Amino acid sequence: MIDLHVHFFPESVFQAIWRYFETESHGLWTITYKLFGPEHVAELERQGVERFTSLVYAHKPGLAPFLNDFVNQSQERFPAMIPFGTVFAGDGDTSRTARTIFENYGFYGIKLHPFVSQEDLDDTRFFPVYEAMEGLGKILICHPGSAPVYGKADGPHRLRRVLTRFPRLKTVIAHCGAFEYEQAAQLAEDFEFVYFDTAMIGVHVDVFRGNSPGRDFFLRYRNRIVFGSDFPNIPYAYQDQVAALTNLHLGPEIEAQIFRTNALSLLGLNSPSSQTLDLRP
Ligand SMILES: [Zn+2]
Repeated sequence: MIDLHVHFFPESVFQAIWRYFETESHGLWTITYKLFGPEHVAELERQGVERFTSLVYAHKPGLAPFLNDFVNQSQERFPAMIPFGTVFAGDGDTSRTARTIFENYGFYGIKLHPFVSQEDLDDTRFFPVYEAMEGLGKILICHPGSAPVYGKADGPHRLRRVLTRFPRLKTVIAHCGAFEYEQAAQLAEDFEFVYFDTAMIGVHVDVFRGNSPGRDFFLRYRNRIVFGSDFPNIPYAYQDQVAALTNLHLGPEIEAQIFRTNALSLLGLNSPSSQTLDLRP
């Protein structure tokens, strides 16, 4: 199993995020796994995860370089990690950041969370980064949807502006685009490299309703959906996320795609010429 929506922050940042979830963000949810570092990685292994991302995001200037450095150091320590960094437009010189994280650190892509960073996806300061990513085949994982509690629903529209300009940019829409499923699906119809992750889909129904695009969505986009959990910032057991997907009874072939092979092809890890990796069967 490969999990493309795992967060991996330094302990101090995780503590701040958990405080936010539990107290400030409408008391959204309590965190089941308050884990960081080696324990975080060990827990994923226990859950059957072979490879996982290191999604990070910044909400203030200066934080992104610190997080990118942290991920770079961590990827050597934890070989199962698929390193992802982030870019904060307010830091300036975004093309320099892109060179650092892609050329020096070899990251697979970046995570952008427009609601946390208060920077829109179509902010032109990101364009040099997108241009570099499109050329290098790097992946943008972003959270354009308004779920669970964000006030603006213009994310898909802004992402469309980005993709119109950079149509070959590999993009993963987190949470299947919740709650703007239709607009997110339309992006997948119009752009070849648009994917979806499953984080929080089909679980956590007590906090927000309508958290699944439905079984037909999974059938239609079977080649574009990658498993993601949002670990460790989740208020339920990891396997609840797995069960929420297997309960759709999509069949072994589609499940293999969602839990593993779609991610491998998106990451470029399934061709003989790609980076050699120690992937368990
Ligand atoms: Zn997340």
